Amino acid sequence: MRGYRAKMVEPTRLVPPEERERALSEAGYNVFNLPSDRVFVDLLTDSGTGTMSSEQWAALLLGDEAYAGASSFDHLREAVEETMGFSRIVPAHQGRGAENVLYGSLVAEGDTVLNNAHFDTTRAHIAANGADPVDCPTEEAGDFDSEHPFKGNFDVDAARDVADDVGPENIPAVVVTITNNSTAGQPVSVANLRETRAFADEIDATFVIDACRFAENAAFVQQREPEFEGESVAAIAREELSYADAVVMSGKKDGLTNIGGFVAVRDTPDLDALYDACRQRGILYEGFTSYGGMAGRDLEAFAVGLREAVTDHYVTARVEQVRELGEALDDAGVPIYWPPGGHAVYLDANALLPHIESSEFPGQALVCALYEEGGVRGVELGSFAFPDTDRPDLVRLALPRRTYSAEDIRHVVDTAAAVADRADELTGYRVVSEPSVPELRHFSARLEPLA
Ligand SMILES: *Cc1c(COP(=O)(O)O)cnc(C)c1O
Repeated sequence: MRGYRAKMVEPTRLVPPEERERALSEAGYNVFNLPSDRVFVDLLTDSGTGTMSSEQWAALLLGDEAYAGASSFDHLREAVEETMGFSRIVPAHQGRGAENVLYGSLVAEGDTVLNNAHFDTTRAHIAANGADPVDCPTEEAGDFDSEHPFKGNFDVDAARDVADDVGPENIPAVVVTITNNSTAGQPVSVANLRETRAFADEIDATFVIDACRFAENAAFVQQREPEFEGESVAAIAREELSYADAVVMSGKKDGLTNIGGFVAVRDTPDLDALYDACRQRGILYEGFTSYGGMAGRDLEAFAVGLREAVTDHYVTARVEQVRELGEALDDAGVPIYWPPGGHAVYLDANALLPHIESSEFPGQALVCALYEEGGVRGVELGSFAFPDTDRPDLVRLALPRRTYSAEDIRHVVDTAAAVADRADELTGYRVVSEPSVPELRHFSARLEPLA
């Protein structure tokens, strides 16, 4: 039950097949280069692409644009305290700005940082500070069919082995990303957060939660972790975050806004130094401590969005829509990572296109075919996006929040099923030009189909 209705609409149009073919060729077979008006259903990302509520639009008009001491900042701080249980925040323009503020304050050259799985910008920030980002995903994460309820969990035993190896004194931070974006949006249990917190204490590290999708994670905990059956999502969300020393947040995800972010630091004396370092770094890179790169109106919309994100009716409908897309694709015979995550469904391009070697980018072949077939834009997260790793070739279909209807979802399923029917006709691709930074290749490289 989706629990909202449209009050303002943005027209979409499925442009004719010849136009899609031309647009794709002009884009160098890279969907990041497609103009959005050539896209019919845009599942490139769920980041900042959702629909704001009428309450959020109304709140924009209350924005206090003062440089310092803006009431809009207090409104955001109060919303964070209420929904996340943190009273001290350092605002930032978006999640990666918050990552720069926190990890630049916490991490030094030669350190190691542990995470259930580093999101790409997190990994880049740890590496930019001269530290080594190490993933500790649970074993089930690599099994595309396992019904394990919490495939996003942090593997404490694996982490302990790393700590023994590098020396616990060289690990300033243990991070858990909820939900685990780099592992198909899979959730993390509260039991696992407690266990990881205890491990962080054991090695005297700061325990950080990347809370970008904390509300979606709480919805899964409510459904799957018996201890929390019958509890509200809002109460579970606070419980999840109660174990963290610090939190990184992107408003573009569960803040239900188009831009914004912050770092939150627990209000205890032993974290005063970290909070102060974050504030100073925030001023340097993001803006003064009461706006951090956001306009006053953004702070207001963010405050309202956080409260909406933890309501049961909103977030239950949200994860249900993703599940419905995943189940319908599965029913149509399209191979996917199972079960569907909180924000996206991941298609298994290796299983669908076994005749295309990883070096010829089966995921990118699938992304291009989905666009040509039905104007659907997804994103490759495999051998094209992550060169020189042995990641599986996945294609992510991320659902913007409160945006698409059941008809749009149906169209995506029909499109994917039509592509699956002619899978053996698809060919691989090769890169014809790429940027100088290999980690950012997929954003701007150009490709061409192999004959
Ligand atoms: C999106 C995201 C970020 C970065 O946030 P931006 O707002 O895109 O800069 C960090 N961590 C995770 C898990 C994310 O999904």
